[in-house]
Amino acid sequence: MTLHYRAAVLHRPHSPLQIETIAAAPLAPSDVLVRVRAAGLCHTDLEVIDGSLRYPMPIVLGHEAAGVIEEVGPAVRRLKKRDHVILSWNPHCGHCYYCDRGLPILCEDYLGKGAQALQFDGSSKARRASGEELKHLMFIGAFGEYCIVQEQQAIAVPPDIPFDRACLIGCGVMTGVGAALNVAHIGRADTVMVIGCGAVGLAAVQGARLVGAAKIIAVDIDDGKLELAQRMGATRGVNAKRDDVAAAAKQESSGRGADVVIEAAGSAAAFRPTVEAVRPGGEVVWLGKIDVNDEVSFRWGALMQEKRIRRSSYGDARPARDFPMLARAYLEGRLMLDELITQRIRLDAINEAFSALREGKVIRSVITFG
Ligand SMILES: [Zn+2]
Ligand SMILES: [Zn+2]
Repeated sequence: MTLHYRAAVLHRPHSPLQIETIAAAPLAPSDVLVRVRAAGLCHTDLEVIDGSLRYPMPIVLGHEAAGVIEEVGPAVRRLKKRDHVILSWNPHCGHCYYCDRGLPILCEDYLGKGAQALQFDGSSKARRASGEELKHLMFIGAFGEYCIVQEQQAIAVPPDIPFDRACLIGCGVMTGVGAALNVAHIGRADTVMVIGCGAVGLAAVQGARLVGAAKIIAVDIDDGKLELAQRMGATRGVNAKRDDVAAAAKQESSGRGADVVIEAAGSAAAFRPTVEAVRPGGEVVWLGKIDVNDEVSFRWGALMQEKRIRRSSYGDARPARDFPMLARAYLEGRLMLDELITQRIRLDAINEAFSALREGKVIRSVITFG
């Protein structure tokens, strides 16, 4: 029997998502059917709506999600019905050029199929009532009551973490905490600067705290977000509208500059101060993104002196290892997630919530499904 469910469908950029009843495809052997219980509205979804990230359409967006396993394909071994899971958007083949070099985020299958917005077995997993095939953003498509993903993308976590908080681990929190834990090399005497205090930046602040950085400087243009960053572990807040970011980094580090600078602002203006604020030999990690055709300029002198710059998409995530670890950190009180949720909404309010994200009014809106 075909499963029908409600989902938000984007038909073209710069248009509202439409709530439609769509039909699920039959499960392939290594698929799992997930009943989505919570999905976060991430900036990447907004970039697709606003046309700076280009994907084929009609498409179901949503890639930061948690839910319950409802059904498993015959080849599924690790998961069973009723498992609580967080979804990973980085399925990978495990044996291509990049997988062999420990870079699943560059997996050739992942990048090829991701651009086509197909699921990882190369097929679409849902149709509109008209029969038209739907695309899925980032191998998930979680803005609906259900989604079908590969077994490797659904990571079982302790059932005591609430779904609305668990879903954040699937993208924003993994990316920010992972930048500090997995990408940058942060020592206990280090000064870390985090530029941009949205969900990803606030997670990076917490990651820097979890690895024991001595000083954590949070930078934003919103005093409310800076105050939240300080509750999450930042030792100083810098409002970039009022204060010089590079000068603040030097003040906190005997004039050298920060050992590590993590950028999580996603605006062209935020990349330039990262290389100004880092010390010679220091590390810069860029997490934000802008339109791929936009240009960014730097002062050449700021790029010299053995500085290392790395762009990271998913905080070097190893979801099977990291998602349960982050869920436990939340349950043990070491990772703050409640404070990242500005509002919980129903699926029907999705367009208003994207407007609020566009205007910088929210950290995270989370759709909850009954
Ligand atoms: Zn995301
Ligand atoms: Zn691969």
